Amino acid sequence: MRPATSPPRTAMRPDGSRLIKFNFGEDLPSVSHGRGVFVYDTDGRRYLDGCSGAVTANLGHADPEILRAMSEQAERITFAHRGSFHSEQSERLADRLSEMTGYPYVFLCNSGSEAVETALRLTLQYWRERGEPERARFVSHAVSYHGATLGGLSLSGHPQRRWAAEALLHGFNELTPPYAYRYAQGRDDASFTALLTERAAQVLDSHGPTAAGVVVEPVGGAAGGAITPPDGYLPALAGLCRERGLPLIADEIMTGMGRTGTMLAAQHWDVHPDMVVLGKGMGAGYAPVSAVLVSEHFIDTIAAGTASVTNGHTYGGNPLGSAVALAVLEAIESRDLVAKASVRGKQLRAGLEDLARRHEIIGEVRGLGLLQGLELVGDRATRSPGEPVGSLTRAVVLAARDQGLLVYPATGGVNDAVLVAPPLTTTPEEIDLLLELLDAALTTLSGKRAPTA
Ligand code: PMP
Repeated sequence: MRPATSPPRTAMRPDGSRLIKFNFGEDLPSVSHGRGVFVYDTDGRRYLDGCSGAVTANLGHADPEILRAMSEQAERITFAHRGSFHSEQSERLADRLSEMTGYPYVFLCNSGSEAVETALRLTLQYWRERGEPERARFVSHAVSYHGATLGGLSLSGHPQRRWAAEALLHGFNELTPPYAYRYAQGRDDASFTALLTERAAQVLDSHGPTAAGVVVEPVGGAAGGAITPPDGYLPALAGLCRERGLPLIADEIMTGMGRTGTMLAAQHWDVHPDMVVLGKGMGAGYAPVSAVLVSEHFIDTIAAGTASVTNGHTYGGNPLGSAVALAVLEAIESRDLVAKASVRGKQLRAGLEDLARRHEIIGEVRGLGLLQGLELVGDRATRSPGEPVGSLTRAVVLAARDQGLLVYPATGGVNDAVLVAPPLTTTPEEIDLLLELLDAALTTLSGKRAPTA
């Protein structure tokens, strides 16, 4: 029998396509081109990209500065292997990333998942060099997403994405998620934080000398939808790690690069993790680029040890991807996009709160900056998700698409939610349009407007 958590079955190749697609790609429009916050399909329909693709296209589409940097680099050289050459572009990228984040070392990869694996592997190497090779037990949250590779899935609290690979996965996802709407059960922020911290200490201590480190999304993204911890939690978790000498690794693949209104989301709480993983917004949809930012003491231990860093990925740090990421960083700085994410985020948040007053399907609005989430419920009083779970998410994504708006499905297997996360370059007028389209979509779903509170 198929497990209860298995994804719904859909017919393979309903359109005769030979391409294996995510969710079998049912009934998707074909993309034609993009301009700014808009994407157009091959039938000429326009969509406001209200989720930056997968919270990736942070500068919008066809940005002239990035296209120029890309074509200038492409004309010089696109690929030279890092085993044969240093590349000026990847050196400059590492320097700029270091200046803008405060981390002294940078390892470049291509996808978020690769960078998460790299962070795990560097941690394992660190412990080997410290003479504690048995430290291999990572700990993460029960509602989370950290990547599609086996290490990333082992960390992920996402039943639907885990199930096919379960036989090869570790159950690292043990921590109670900082997800007040479903886990606080009436506690205020302070007592919920105390509960989360006490449980995290128990989990870490249960692993004793095998505990290797903690991996956390500062704001949970793809699983659950912009799950924002109570203010005291991340500093408390960092404190637990410090007391035990365990590294704290922040997975900022979705939250980094200014998305939440600070360069790194951990900065909202003055937390400085030992490593930070970046992806998505680093290449901003123009090139697949990701990175691990690493603290001094990690690299010192590894550099003083018996081996160099021995693993990498073929395309990691390639000149084209590095030139694109460098241009993206320059754009973030010269256009003041981190501050803009904060300001536009407030406008978006106020608009979403207004929609929540009028549409019963919205159980909660949460998030930081331009990473906002809507918890979707069948019944506000009981907080019930869709029946089956995921059905409300799908309904909202499709209704929005019909109105010409893209929002991101973020059901974590236990809830229904969508992410609203437009490019950091979105104008105030475009935020208003996004809200109008979402209002129209929610209105078609309910068939009526909920009363104004
Ligand atoms: N971690 C987080 C927090 C993510 O949001 C994602 C992508 N949704 C990943 C890891 C995996 O990144 P990628 O899809 O680029 O491998």
